[in-house]
Amino acid sequence: MRLVATELVPKGQGGSIPLHHSKPHTWINMMYQFALESAQVSKLSDWLIEHDKSCKFYDDGTTPVSPTGAIGGRLTYEFTPTSLGTVSVVKCACGESINLTDYKSW
Ligand SMILES: [Zn+2]
Repeated sequence: MRLVATELVPKGQGGSIPLHHSKPHTWINMMYQFALESAQVSKLSDWLIEHDKSCKFYDDGTTPVSPTGAIGGRLTYEFTPTSLGTVSVVKCACGESINLTDYKSW
Protein backbone atom coordinates (compact mmCIF):
# COMPACT_ATOMS: atom_id res chain seq x y z
CA MET A 1 0.00 0.00 0.00
CA ARG A 2 1.22 3.46 -0.85
CA LEU A 3 -0.33 6.45 0.87
CA VAL A 4 -0.04 9.72 -1.07
CA ALA A 5 -0.83 13.27 -0.03
CA THR A 6 -1.10 15.97 -2.68
CA GLU A 7 -0.90 19.72 -2.27
CA LEU A 8 -1.63 22.29 -4.96
CA VAL A 9 0.71 25.28 -5.13
CA PRO A 10 0.24 28.69 -6.77
CA LYS A 11 0.51 28.92 -10.55
CA GLY A 12 4.01 29.27 -11.98
CA GLN A 13 6.22 27.69 -14.60
CA GLY A 14 6.60 24.25 -13.03
CA GLY A 15 9.81 22.28 -13.23
CA SER A 16 11.85 20.11 -10.95
CA ILE A 17 12.96 22.65 -8.37
CA PRO A 18 13.45 20.92 -5.00
CA LEU A 19 10.65 21.74 -2.60
CA HIS A 20 12.98 23.36 -0.09
CA HIS A 21 13.96 25.91 -2.75
CA SER A 22 10.37 27.01 -3.19
CA LYS A 23 9.41 29.98 -5.34
CA PRO A 24 5.66 29.57 -4.95
CA HIS A 25 4.64 32.67 -6.90
CA THR A 26 6.38 31.67 -10.15
CA TRP A 27 5.26 28.07 -10.62
CA ILE A 28 2.46 27.00 -13.00
CA ASN A 29 0.02 24.13 -12.44
CA MET A 30 2.44 22.18 -10.34
CA MET A 31 1.53 20.01 -7.42
CA TYR A 32 3.47 18.38 -4.65
CA GLN A 33 2.99 14.72 -3.86
CA PHE A 34 4.18 13.15 -0.64
CA ALA A 35 4.02 9.43 -0.02
CA LEU A 36 4.35 6.91 2.75
CA GLU A 37 5.88 3.70 1.49
CA SER A 38 4.63 0.28 2.50
CA ALA A 39 7.00 -0.11 5.46
CA GLN A 40 6.00 3.33 6.78
CA VAL A 41 2.28 2.53 6.47
CA SER A 42 2.88 -0.73 8.31
CA LYS A 43 4.76 1.10 11.09
CA LEU A 44 1.91 3.63 11.36
CA SER A 45 -0.69 0.87 11.52
CA ASP A 46 1.20 -0.94 14.29
CA TRP A 47 1.56 2.32 16.25
CA LEU A 48 -2.16 3.12 15.90
CA ILE A 49 -3.20 -0.30 17.21
CA GLU A 50 -1.30 0.40 20.44
CA HIS A 51 -2.05 4.13 20.56
CA ASP A 52 -5.80 3.63 20.19
CA LYS A 53 -5.84 1.72 23.49
CA SER A 54 -5.05 4.89 25.45
CA CYS A 55 -5.90 7.84 23.17
CA LYS A 56 -8.79 9.98 24.39
CA PHE A 57 -9.61 10.88 20.78
CA TYR A 58 -10.00 7.30 19.60
CA ASP A 59 -13.59 6.63 18.55
CA ASP A 60 -14.55 3.18 19.83
CA GLY A 61 -18.13 3.65 18.67
CA THR A 62 -19.60 3.60 22.19
CA THR A 63 -20.40 7.31 22.49
CA PRO A 64 -23.10 9.25 20.59
CA VAL A 65 -20.57 11.86 19.42
CA SER A 66 -17.08 11.04 18.19
CA PRO A 67 -14.27 12.55 20.30
CA THR A 68 -12.98 14.28 17.15
CA GLY A 69 -16.38 15.66 16.11
CA ALA A 70 -18.65 14.84 13.20
CA ILE A 71 -16.01 14.82 10.47
CA GLY A 72 -13.02 13.33 12.26
CA GLY A 73 -9.60 14.74 11.51
CA ARG A 74 -7.81 12.99 14.34
CA LEU A 75 -4.56 12.40 12.44
CA THR A 76 -2.38 15.04 10.77
CA TYR A 77 0.19 13.93 8.21
CA GLU A 78 3.23 16.22 8.19
CA PHE A 79 5.85 16.09 5.43
CA THR A 80 8.93 18.31 5.64
CA PRO A 81 11.20 18.30 2.59
CA THR A 82 14.90 18.82 3.40
CA SER A 83 18.03 18.74 1.26
CA LEU A 84 18.63 15.14 2.41
CA GLY A 85 15.12 13.67 2.30
CA THR A 86 11.59 14.12 3.55
CA VAL A 87 10.77 14.06 7.25
CA SER A 88 7.44 12.26 7.67
CA VAL A 89 5.52 12.56 10.91
CA VAL A 90 1.94 11.63 11.80
CA LYS A 91 0.41 13.53 14.70
CA CYS A 92 -2.67 12.59 16.68
CA ALA A 93 -5.12 15.18 18.00
CA CYS A 94 -4.10 14.17 21.54
CA GLY A 95 -0.59 15.50 20.93
CA GLU A 96 1.27 12.24 20.48
CA SER A 97 3.04 11.54 17.22
CA ILE A 98 5.12 8.98 15.38
CA ASN A 99 8.14 9.77 13.22
CA LEU A 100 7.95 7.63 10.06
CA THR A 101 10.97 9.16 8.33
CA ASP A 102 12.88 6.64 6.24
CA TYR A 103 16.38 7.82 7.17
CA LYS A 104 17.96 4.81 5.41
CA SER A 105 16.86 6.26 2.07
CA TRP A 106 18.69 9.55 2.68
ZN1 LIG B 1 -4.01 10.16 20.26
